[in-house]
Amino acid sequence: MPAIRPRSGSAALAVLFLAACTALTGLPATAEPVGAAKAPTRNEHPANGVERNQVAALDAPAARAAVVPGGANRARPHQGYPRQTSLRVYPEDANDRSIKLGLYPYHALAPKLNELQERSDRISVEVVGQSTLGRDLYLVTVTAPESARETREQQRWKELIEDDPVRAARDPRLRREYKAPIWINNNIHGDEWEGTDGAMRLIEHFATTSDRATLDLLGRTRIYFNVTANPDGRNAGTRPNAAGFDLNRDFATASQPETRAMREIGLTTQPLVMLDEHGYTGDTLIEPATAPHGQNYEYDLYIKHAYANALGMEAAVKALGYAETESVTIPFRDLAPGDWDDWPPIFTPMNVMYHGAVGHTVEIPLRVNRASYTDLPVSELRRRSAINTDVAAATIRAAITYTDTNRDALIADQIEFFRRGRAGEAQRHIPDGYVPGFGPEDRYSTTFARAWVIPSGPAQRSEAAAARLVDMLVANDIRVTRAHRGFRLSGRAYPAGSYVVDMHQPKRGLASALLEAGGDVSQRVPQMYDISGWSLGLLWGATVDRVASGPVHVPGRPVVAAAPTGGVDAGPGRDLAITVRDGKDVQAVNDLLGSGLPLRRAADGVVIAPAETRAEVLEVADRYGVRFTAAPPGASGTPMRPQVIAGAVAPDELKALRDMGFEVRPVNAAILNAGFDWSRVDTLYVSSGLRYSDLNPEAVAALTTFLSRGGVVTRGVTGARFNADAGLLAARAVAGREDANGVVTVVNGGGLTRDALPHSFVYSPLWFTDLGAGVAVEQRYAADPLVAGHWLPRANGTGGPADAAGQASVVSGTDERGARVVLFGSEPMFRDHPKGLYAQTANALYWTAAVPALTR
Ligand SMILES: [Zn+2]
Repeated sequence: MPAIRPRSGSAALAVLFLAACTALTGLPATAEPVGAAKAPTRNEHPANGVERNQVAALDAPAARAAVVPGGANRARPHQGYPRQTSLRVYPEDANDRSIKLGLYPYHALAPKLNELQERSDRISVEVVGQSTLGRDLYLVTVTAPESARETREQQRWKELIEDDPVRAARDPRLRREYKAPIWINNNIHGDEWEGTDGAMRLIEHFATTSDRATLDLLGRTRIYFNVTANPDGRNAGTRPNAAGFDLNRDFATASQPETRAMREIGLTTQPLVMLDEHGYTGDTLIEPATAPHGQNYEYDLYIKHAYANALGMEAAVKALGYAETESVTIPFRDLAPGDWDDWPPIFTPMNVMYHGAVGHTVEIPLRVNRASYTDLPVSELRRRSAINTDVAAATIRAAITYTDTNRDALIADQIEFFRRGRAGEAQRHIPDGYVPGFGPEDRYSTTFARAWVIPSGPAQRSEAAAARLVDMLVANDIRVTRAHRGFRLSGRAYPAGSYVVDMHQPKRGLASALLEAGGDVSQRVPQMYDISGWSLGLLWGATVDRVASGPVHVPGRPVVAAAPTGGVDAGPGRDLAITVRDGKDVQAVNDLLGSGLPLRRAADGVVIAPAETRAEVLEVADRYGVRFTAAPPGASGTPMRPQVIAGAVAPDELKALRDMGFEVRPVNAAILNAGFDWSRVDTLYVSSGLRYSDLNPEAVAALTTFLSRGGVVTRGVTGARFNADAGLLAARAVAGREDANGVVTVVNGGGLTRDALPHSFVYSPLWFTDLGAGVAVEQRYAADPLVAGHWLPRANGTGGPADAAGQASVVSGTDERGARVVLFGSEPMFRDHPKGLYAQTANALYWTAAVPALTR
């Protein structure tokens, strides 16, 4: 056991209690932790993990944000500061949930920012993207005016720090005149409002003050405010964005426009210090986080500033003088390992740490969302929100002061961060007591690869997946080279066109965090805050080779975008075939089906297109970057058609299924009970928010009729329960520990998963035993399944990876009414992330719909 710092014991109990509530009993988890738990747990957050099995996603209301055209645009390149934009103004929305709290409704932000830009040449506003519903995302830059030449110089220094850190370290003018960049991110969780209001207060102050010291400060810094990172959530009072995604879990995926805008802000501003303003944890909470610490950080450079900055913010919060601000939690100092970690690169501050910033999550104290929002009197809500706004403003002010005071050291350490990367140096050993409380339990490190190769040619499992991965790396500012000609590395030969990630580069930490397998932290901490495994190298469907050492001299060109990959490898007159092993393949097949082409699905899952569809196939192959080959002579199969799915699914699955081109009609018990029209549905997919026992007799009868001609796919505990209650497949579902998650090794069978990856992803893993006659095992957990993540047995010894070893993770069979059924115990579409697993779901859906003699 690692040494345990002081902690509140109730937190772990709350985790266990809540975890117990979400077991196969199907009882919904309570949203709030039990008692006065000090350490917030992941179970506190709805839509965060196992809870996503509880409420099915429905389509967002048709009423989209009314957008007034015109007005907004980006600044011209090489423009100085201010960069003022006449922001388009949105219609007033009396239902904006901010209003009740006395805070800025979204529609009031643009008028205020327009006014401040008119009053001050220190305020610039740029629109850096749009939310899911089309609301503008505002990046406010506060700094003393700059000529275009001065701005170019600042930009050159910023690039020098990353690209030539040795020279940057020796540049006296850079050291003197580089304006310290600070990024304040706000309201990423839409119902954690007051970061925005604290930011607006400071923006107004900076715009209007005549205080000499403040004006001097703005000559030394640029302060960037993402005013609200989640405008749709702010307006609707929801934690996730309008697509149901938790944006602060999305950084290893960047599936959402709001996340991509934040990623871009981080890259273009290259902050020294970054705050992400959240709420509400009772106490104010200020990172640095507990262990496990991400093993790819330059953690020594981070923690010395993060800890000191947190102490400054703590003092500023306490100085506010409210009874509610007397106590501040700094997880690194006050909580136990695993309570509030910075292990996965899915959170905003952890993402920017890999770009050389000192990132902090800040949680303002007083709850005003969820039940409090509806239950508390307006006066009390506004009292709380006013204090919360003060706390947010105090932390922002303190972080600005810390950055300004420690500007030289912060710049030097960011330069050092990039220098180590470019030089390929090992991470530093950090001695005990390096900062107060640093001990063995905080020590996490990795051995960086010398390079990663994403091969082209026959060794590549999916060229489309390879291109997607390369584009993801490049979007994260990771340098990738495409080889001009064939080369050898680590004794292996690679053809021209292969991609190389030379790990002697500034962003090697992020490259490693995304590509490496990860680590199994089960034995080091009793629990984790969120997911603990995510490897894009193992889960995104591309073959990726690790090169441990040796010289890397691969002549090639820096990649801006992956090269096109689509094509047809067969002469005219031949029937064409595609093996469905990636979501991109599924998109291509569904696109062709949508165009009415007569595709057939062979018994081995290969999809056949007749020779006369060649022109359409060529176009689609190009569109999705997939390759068709010649079908074996005489190949045949079951006719396919565009598939309609009734989906009781989580928001992430809804997105993944629709992105693959399936028509999904969201359902839940209420919708089915209201006389759902099954006539065009091929398959029912159940993973969230549907219980068979909630169906009324008419709905049961309609479902029974459907089962004589349609199929069923389920995922997770909700799906397995539905399978049992509806009497579909004879298979007993066994639940692993509810908070277990990570990358696992699986053994695929010869059927639906014959072309699947040897790895999968689990969250609340499930397996199937006591299989009835005719129930086939499609996939099993390997003998030692966990590759990376956190998976322990429960306190009573059950539910651990040893219990899952060798058990069935995916099974299939035919219900006695005729329905083909597939049950998933793994998570092939979790948070739109494990892209290399999507084809498993698609092949299951295709198979369930391919009932012979089925006509419509
Ligand atoms: Zn939050």
